[in-house]
Amino acid sequence: MANEKVDVVIVGAGASGSVYASVLAKAGKKVVLLEAGPDWQMSDLISSEMWGRRIRPAGAPFLLEGKNPFGYAGQAGWGVGGAALHYFANHPRFLPNDYKIKSEHNRALDWPISYQDVAPFYDKVAHDIGMSGDAKAEEKWRPAGQSYPMPPMKTFRHGEIWVKGFESLGIRMVPAPVAMNSTEFKGRPACIYDGWCHVGCPTGALANPTVTYLSEARKAKAEVRALCSVTRVLTNAQGTKVAGVEYYDEKKVRQVQEAHVVVLAAWSGQNSRLLLNSATDKHSKGLNNSNGLVGKYMMTHSIAGINAIFDEDIQNHLGTIGAQYMSYDRYGKTSYKDAFGSTYITCGAAQKTHDFASTRPDLFGPDLHDYMKRAARGFTRISMFGEGLPNIENRIELASDKDEFGMPLGRLTHSFDQDAVALWNANLEEGQKAAKAAGAKEVWVGRAAIPTTHLHGGTIMGTDAANSVVNSFGQCHELPNLYVAGPSIFPTEGASNPTYTILAVSLRGAEQLAAKWATVAG
Ligand SMILES: Cc1cc2nc3c(=O)[nH]c(=O)nc-3n(C[C@H](O)[C@H](O)[C@H](O)COP(=O)(O)OP(=O)(O)OC[C@H]3O[C@@H](n4cnc5c(N)ncnc54)[C@H](O)[C@@H]3O)c2cc1C
Ligand code: SF4
Repeated sequence: MANEKVDVVIVGAGASGSVYASVLAKAGKKVVLLEAGPDWQMSDLISSEMWGRRIRPAGAPFLLEGKNPFGYAGQAGWGVGGAALHYFANHPRFLPNDYKIKSEHNRALDWPISYQDVAPFYDKVAHDIGMSGDAKAEEKWRPAGQSYPMPPMKTFRHGEIWVKGFESLGIRMVPAPVAMNSTEFKGRPACIYDGWCHVGCPTGALANPTVTYLSEARKAKAEVRALCSVTRVLTNAQGTKVAGVEYYDEKKVRQVQEAHVVVLAAWSGQNSRLLLNSATDKHSKGLNNSNGLVGKYMMTHSIAGINAIFDEDIQNHLGTIGAQYMSYDRYGKTSYKDAFGSTYITCGAAQKTHDFASTRPDLFGPDLHDYMKRAARGFTRISMFGEGLPNIENRIELASDKDEFGMPLGRLTHSFDQDAVALWNANLEEGQKAAKAAGAKEVWVGRAAIPTTHLHGGTIMGTDAANSVVNSFGQCHELPNLYVAGPSIFPTEGASNPTYTILAVSLRGAEQLAAKWATVAG
């Protein structure tokens, strides 16, 4: 069944798709967002671990392979708002060295743009969605920019207690930038510090897409069609332009949505899977894949988590799930002698009972009971995010197994290289030193497997069709009216949590598309 042709169809109503929808709908374009999951409302966000599982990923799984398989469960989103509906809202930006790693170290890949190209969009996003932090304090590591619209969030003892420990190692901690309200912002309330952000903030104090860009897009008449799973991007007969998408609606009936422009914003894993599944006789390896780079260079961060118990009531239940303090003092690519890559250091996330229970799976009976008593008042944890470099062997391919719509499942193969493993180990050592210097009575780490988080790559940007899938705006080299948005277009991943950069780069791409509409869509 064919729907009336629209200006733009956006696949995925998450972080990146919402930005495109807002910019294009406000520019007067007829916009349809097709979203595989439900149309979550704020009233669906209930502060309960059990209930929160309902908004976590569902739908077709990925087959996970490699030495360090990506931790897919809990890492993706499903439904309007995407993963950013229940993300932790840590919003550090990438630093200038992330954009030029090849030029500066002859390793990995350069971005085709510099920090200065993205900087104005970082500032604009902060003021669009609401961010709290101390820009001046961050400027010891990065060029000056605008202040955040809100002052830093309140701090609590379980975050403050780390600061001296890090300082003794020469690591300066400053207020963490977060997409949360320290004060009322654009009619949304200030945070109440109850720490339930990870199952979706029900008050609107956390800037999830449904209360920011998507809300603006809806006001500008963008249409969101929930429970609609896109399976293919369609092209014209000559294979020179995209013509729309094929999808299955909420009744599982096949539909076609024609459009002048298609934006894939379905997250790193799905964007590659969709392009590969859209092969035609003119595009036998998948759309925009003559160079074979679709699905390649998948990257993920490692997390070095250091657990500690202090012998006092540090009020670990208070605060948000985002960080209280952060540091870029180990962000230089050669910060550690025997490792390579950046590290982003955070501390001060609020804890729930299951957080500290799950860090000691070895304990039972009275030992567990004693531990829980100590941990309930004294447990805290830091997270040090480590960079993984782009490696062409880390990839997404189509598997022979199929989902309910007959679309092949994606197989995601991921292994960390020696540098990333060394970086994770160096961070575990550094973090334990900080914990001891902070006066922790018990300090331990888990080494069973390297935790992975934040998936990037698969449709990377570059200077031309020989080295990349899209240009710096997300526009495909081979099919100019097809755009890709989100972390899948990042050629390197730095160590910063990605969403601030996702929003900034999406805003840059969407504004370019709106400005060049006649050339792109005509
Ligand atoms: C628990 C958790 C905590 C996180 N914390 C942070 C943090 O503190 N800071 C940070 O920067 N990042 C964080 N992230 C990561 C962040 O949420 C993602 O990087 C970001 O949401 C990715 O944006 P996106 O637009 O690419 O994808 P998403 O926001 O996930 O949106 C993609 C959307 O596409 C839809 N979709 C997929 N396939 C199809 C299809 N075939 N048809 C139609 N729709 C489809 C999905 O249902 C989804 O809604 C966190 C993620 C998780 C899971
Ligand atoms: S701690 Fe703040 S941001 Fe998190 S869920 Fe509560 S009110 Fe929302």
